[in-house]
Amino acid sequence: MIFHKKNRERCAVCGKEIQHKYRPMDEWTINGFLCGDCHLDKMKEFYIEGKKPKVENCELCGKNLESRDTYELHKGLNLSSRVCAECFEIKRKEVDKKLENCITCGKKLGFFRYNPRREWNIDGQLCRKCWSSHNMK
Ligand SMILES: [Zn+2]
Ligand SMILES: [Zn+2]
Ligand SMILES: [Zn+2]
Repeated sequence: MIFHKKNRERCAVCGKEIQHKYRPMDEWTINGFLCGDCHLDKMKEFYIEGKKPKVENCELCGKNLESRDTYELHKGLNLSSRVCAECFEIKRKEVDKKLENCITCGKKLGFFRYNPRREWNIDGQLCRKCWSSHNMK
């Protein structure tokens, strides 16, 4: 009678009995050993993956970002990663709005803002108070 004292190792990927064990790389998160074929496949995969640009998601809408439509955010936007073009535009406007101040008194302008009359020769926007005082002149 023949006893198999020890089961042969099987490939952790394809389940084939392994003639020559190949140790997976840590990054592959594979538990066990690989056969030669799978090891080669994994090596290729890993090599190609490593060369691909990292896929990132928009921090705001979760959309996959392609490198051409990602935006590094400047500090003012209060975000930690990248966003897509649309979200960037929305955020930028939001921040711009917040940062805009009345050109005369420096008061922050809210949703309501007033454009100066041309004859006032003012470049910027005004708060209601300043606009009215100019208007009364
Ligand atoms: Zn295999
Ligand atoms: Zn987005
Ligand atoms: Zn003002």
